[in-house]
Amino acid sequence: MTVPKCPICDRPREERFKPFCSKRCAQRDLGNWLNEDYAIPAIEAPEDEEEPSAPPTDERLH
Ligand SMILES: [Zn+2]
Repeated sequence: MTVPKCPICDRPREERFKPFCSKRCAQRDLGNWLNEDYAIPAIEAPEDEEEPSAPPTDERLH
């Protein structure tokens, strides 16, 4: 059988901190998640610079 491991540091995880081994790893994962959450709007934000994303009115009606 496989021992569940902490996704952050690969150590055997602690039941009360699952799926992590410690509170520190849990917070670290949360930090990663928040960073990604910030990164997504940062990529999608400059839409008027990249290309006009507003479709013609005709296409919306179809
Ligand atoms: Zn860990």
